[in-house]
Amino acid sequence: MSNIVAIVGRPNVGKSTLFNRLLERREAIVDSTAGVTRDRHYGKSDWNGVDFTVIDTGGYDVNNDDVFQGEISKQVELAIDEATSIIFMLNVEEGLTDTDYEIHEMLRRSNKPTYIVINKVDSSKEEIDATEFYQLGIEKYYTISSATGSGTGEILDDIVKDF
Ligand code: GDP
Ligand code: MG
Repeated sequence: MSNIVAIVGRPNVGKSTLFNRLLERREAIVDSTAGVTRDRHYGKSDWNGVDFTVIDTGGYDVNNDDVFQGEISKQVELAIDEATSIIFMLNVEEGLTDTDYEIHEMLRRSNKPTYIVINKVDSSKEEIDATEFYQLGIEKYYTISSATGSGTGEILDDIVKDF
């Protein structure tokens, strides 16, 4: 069985930026399929000698108000079915939204190992802003800057323990 990590979250939170960072120095996109899985990108990565596959989800229409009922919920269901672990990415710049609550509820019900990752924490100011996300009723979250890669090592240390 291979280890699969899926990255889910609203548009523009930084999923693809993290995906590309995890794939650095590795082969680029190895597969992408049509239909419901359009714009799901698969790539290979590794951490401390442990290999895993990363799935980047997305491709939804950012301007569509019904985006959650459509593509995002579909992508979250697929991630729940397919992944070993799920990274649920949130954006500290935008703060918590109704869609974030809905995604969180789907993931909570699934009992999949889920890592709540607050992205765009580029400085200590955003570190403080990120405490807003405790409103999800969670005990732990990770803060990262996908742009610089800071914080990603801590998540990967924990994720590879699931495998
Ligand atoms: P996706 O829609 O979730 O895949 O988001 P993208 O990865 O395409 O990123 C959306 C935008 O956020 C882009 O302009 C990125 O450059 C920017 N972005 C991603 N990660 C960070 C970060 O850690 N800090 C900041 N400041 N911007 C980021
Ligand atoms: Mg993307």
